[in-house]
Amino acid sequence: MFGNLDYSTLLKAVEQNDSPVYVYDAEKIILQYKRLVSAFKPIDIKIKYACKALNNSAILKLLKNEGSGLDTVSINEVKLGLRAGFAASEIIFTPNCVGFEEIQEAVNLGVHINIDNISILEQFGSVYGNSVPCCVRLNPHILAGGNNKISTGHIDSKFGISIHQLRHVLRVIKTHNMHINGLHMHTGSDILDSGVFLQGAEILFDAAKDFPDLQFIDFGSGFKVAYKPNDITTDIEELGKALGDRFIEFCKEYGRELELWFEPGKYIVSESGYFLVKANIIKQTTATVFIGVDSGLNHLIRPMLYDSYHHITNITNPEGKERIYTVVGNICETDTFGWDRKLNEVREGDILCFHNAGAYGFTMSSNYNARFRPAEAILYNGNIYQIRKRETFDDLIRNEIEFTSF
Ligand SMILES: *Cc1c(COP(=O)(O)O)cnc(C)c1O
Repeated sequence: MFGNLDYSTLLKAVEQNDSPVYVYDAEKIILQYKRLVSAFKPIDIKIKYACKALNNSAILKLLKNEGSGLDTVSINEVKLGLRAGFAASEIIFTPNCVGFEEIQEAVNLGVHINIDNISILEQFGSVYGNSVPCCVRLNPHILAGGNNKISTGHIDSKFGISIHQLRHVLRVIKTHNMHINGLHMHTGSDILDSGVFLQGAEILFDAAKDFPDLQFIDFGSGFKVAYKPNDITTDIEELGKALGDRFIEFCKEYGRELELWFEPGKYIVSESGYFLVKANIIKQTTATVFIGVDSGLNHLIRPMLYDSYHHITNITNPEGKERIYTVVGNICETDTFGWDRKLNEVREGDILCFHNAGAYGFTMSSNYNARFRPAEAILYNGNIYQIRKRETFDDLIRNEIEFTSF
């Protein structure tokens, strides 16, 4: 459940890349992908991997080879997907609050367009009429999501078009004679209860009656993965059976077969990722023993942003006596990775491993404090391959323009 790579393999990645480094286990990514696909059999679901979770081209190509499509939220993610070899028809563009020019650019690149507000829907209709199909992102107002910041279905959420505005949506579509080929919802991350998905599904199935030209229904994502040992997770097999059966029934009511799409990010890549850092300093204060590592919120911000838990292990000294530590970063902010963690005795220079660091780790990293973003590596067929260099000083100043008028 936690990723069971042996420590010598992970240490090899540090020898090759130095620390800090993200390592992704390709086999685990494929396993997660296949598990999700099997859970919905006999339905042949289409997975649009949400690449904002982890967008290194090696990972994109790996998933493309498995048959995945891509969910993108910015025009540059669309371009990363095309560059990695995805066909435009396999990519869906689901931006929030972008200008109409960015939507037009995506139309020109030929990807599926998912519209999340009525203003853009009207502009899209008046420019394209029924010549370019689009999908509509509805907000069913289903309450879900582990943390308020990652929950998108609530009444105050900025995402999607409220289901209560359906009549307005239909009026816009009719006025411009638009071709709506998909209905979409994404209620947020960390949905525990498959009942929540089913509730959302009923709302979309009901709305679908008003859209005769659909090609697909897209249920977004929100599958919860384990962060702590023994964490409860979404029961994918149970969800696959229940939602799959209901979908087959719905297609009969609708009158023809539609495609069933999902956009998992975290579910596909989270557990594949290991973030390896070095213990720089052991600092005993009056109340606590701190481990200060050669990383910080500039490399892994989830614990500070979402209060997320990442399991931490000492892979240099796995047999050491267990002691209690607070693990912090080296950034001039309070960047605590974990309070009062039980770790095998940590000496300065030991390598610590953050588990479950594949999703929203590297892609949320920054250059804060003028530090380099970390290197990335992939474990494939027993070997470690570097897939991103650590930055250099030149990267930090690349776009700066010298001011010469002083
Ligand atoms: C972020 C996002 C996802 C993926 O969410 P996960 O929790 O990583 O699975 C899917 N769809 C959309 C539209 C998103 O914004």
